[in-house]
Amino acid sequence: MSIEQNIIDLRNELRRHNYNYYILDNASISDYEFDIKLKELQALEDANPEFFDANSPTQRVGGAITKNFKTTVHDFRMYSLDNSYSKEDLLDWETRIKKMVDGKVQYTCELKYDGASMNLTYENGKLLRAVTRGDGVQGDEVTANIKTINTVPLQLKGDFPDRFDIRGEIILPIQGFLKMNEERIANEEEPYRNPRNTASGSLKLQDSSEVAKRPLECLLYSIKGNNLNISTQYEGLEKARAWGFKVPKEAKLVNSIDEVLEYVEYWDKERHNLPYEIDGVVVKVNSLFQQDELGFTAKAPRWAMAYKFKAEQVSTRLNEITYQVGRTGAITPVANLEPVELAGTTVKRASLHNADQIEKLDIREGDEVFVEKGGEIIPKIIAVDLTKRPENSVSTSYIQFCPECETHLERLDGEAKHYCPNYNGCPPQVVGRIQHYISRKAMDIEGLGGETVALLVKEGLIKDYSDLYELTVEQVIPLERMAKKSAENLINGVEASRQIPFERVLFALGIRYVGETVAKKLAKHYKSIDALMFASILDLVTVDEIGERIAESVVDFFSSEQNRKIVERLKTFGLQLEISADKLANQTEILKGMSIVVSGVFETLSRTELKKLIEDNGGKVSSSISSKTTYLVAGDKMGPSKREKAEKLNVEILSEQDFLNLLK
Ligand code: AMP
Ligand code: ZN
Repeated sequence: MSIEQNIIDLRNELRRHNYNYYILDNASISDYEFDIKLKELQALEDANPEFFDANSPTQRVGGAITKNFKTTVHDFRMYSLDNSYSKEDLLDWETRIKKMVDGKVQYTCELKYDGASMNLTYENGKLLRAVTRGDGVQGDEVTANIKTINTVPLQLKGDFPDRFDIRGEIILPIQGFLKMNEERIANEEEPYRNPRNTASGSLKLQDSSEVAKRPLECLLYSIKGNNLNISTQYEGLEKARAWGFKVPKEAKLVNSIDEVLEYVEYWDKERHNLPYEIDGVVVKVNSLFQQDELGFTAKAPRWAMAYKFKAEQVSTRLNEITYQVGRTGAITPVANLEPVELAGTTVKRASLHNADQIEKLDIREGDEVFVEKGGEIIPKIIAVDLTKRPENSVSTSYIQFCPECETHLERLDGEAKHYCPNYNGCPPQVVGRIQHYISRKAMDIEGLGGETVALLVKEGLIKDYSDLYELTVEQVIPLERMAKKSAENLINGVEASRQIPFERVLFALGIRYVGETVAKKLAKHYKSIDALMFASILDLVTVDEIGERIAESVVDFFSSEQNRKIVERLKTFGLQLEISADKLANQTEILKGMSIVVSGVFETLSRTELKKLIEDNGGKVSSSISSKTTYLVAGDKMGPSKREKAEKLNVEILSEQDFLNLLK
């Protein structure tokens, strides 16, 4: 077979697997095999650049940097939609329609996906360009970013027209959004507010490989073009689906406004069970012939109508504004509310974000406020009900001093948040850093919990995490709720943490922006804390995925004499502050490219040891089973649902012994 044919076959095969996985939700190959084939294709393409194809599956990982997005005029204008909020609105709309068209009118009901709209142009079955809505007439070309989204087909299948536009919404499913935020919170970064803004913000990132990391999806709803041989909206949706697009199957063809209302009512309740957010329903006249007759107003088609759900909103009293101090000293104002039911949960508190937000809302203690679950995730305060403001109300002045240590707060230029600069003396910062140090993903100190840490600090027994290593059983026993046994456990736990590997110690230090992944990268690159301490910003940014912000924070951390002293102490206590020679010797690539789930209790190894073995041998530990999982290593007491899922997805199940044999 010729090399060219080989490349073409591989591309087709990978496209098929991609389609099965992302569009049909039904994997036809393991993640591992997919990666191997993708690498094979990449190698062939590298060696034979004459067969380059901008739409090859290898192009999905991104990498292209766009500094300025090119403005592009749409072939077909992208209109907005008129909104309706009630049955009357819809009936009025129907009356207007019936005056303009003859015959029976059918409607397509679709969900109104809450994201950012996108126009994709395809020519000869290949994605030619992707352009944002912009002002409707022209938008920004963001093709490199859109190519990284797995639900956007780069090559169509079946009987597609030579050239056409297709419109859809770029969305971020809720699970993916929560996961992105979990990581940000772990790194003490401000969480993203809602999936929609995060999705639309992603479109204009300059580095497409950053976009590739976000679990975005593209849901399609409308085809535009000349001589397409499509006669209804519903038929268009079905065709798009057949060409390989993701078109949600919730779309429904109905015969009357009453049926439209049923659809609206159903989805107003059911929307909480969808994997993504919707903010309403879009109703469209089904016949494209009738659509043509109806045409457009200056702003929107006459043949379509959005029905917006009411955001779930309640009003309640703001009892008090309090201020929280985080581990890094960041201050977060919190609204303490009179408890109230909202979208199925009791809401007692809402974040007020920062001083600007308080000022913007002019929110005061004692006010009656409107609370909304817009994104269904974090409740937010929308506005104050000024008609109910008490006469003696006084406007809120933001605190100037730390509520915990009374230090004057600082607010750096360009930062929204106030910070307490008292790094060494502010209890929540001191305690928070030690709590982070002992936490499960960091030093995992058994026998020591967050409350005990607070107590140890309060009693003056420890001031920073290095003091833990000089604690004695006798010192600990007198503490509240301590007995001889628990005191011994605590000391033993501290003792055992000396064996924790360098990368986790590095994470445990609590350097701002150095989360688990970054710590691993730094440990791997510098191999010892000494090398890292002497690294300059210029040097740090050459490390894969280390940007300026992280680099600055690392340099800043080690420029403090006190931090350097703590590190020196940790050294004298025998902690792992470099990658051990053993560890280097023990590392292999046997499990490279594999994603492995560990579940249950094991005979010879602890779960942590098992996970470490996987990582040392080049594998990836993942927490849940998917079609991308290579193996499930199953111990005793594994839940039956895990096994069922593995069997259903054809994931091979290994015993502890099978797994160890694999490494031999
Ligand atoms: P609006 O931004 O409120 O004018 O609403 C119009 C926008 O709704 C369009 O630009 C699309 O991005 C979005 N939209 C979401 N789902 C659909 C759908 N099923 N059909 C048409 N537009 C939709
Ligand atoms: Zn403070």
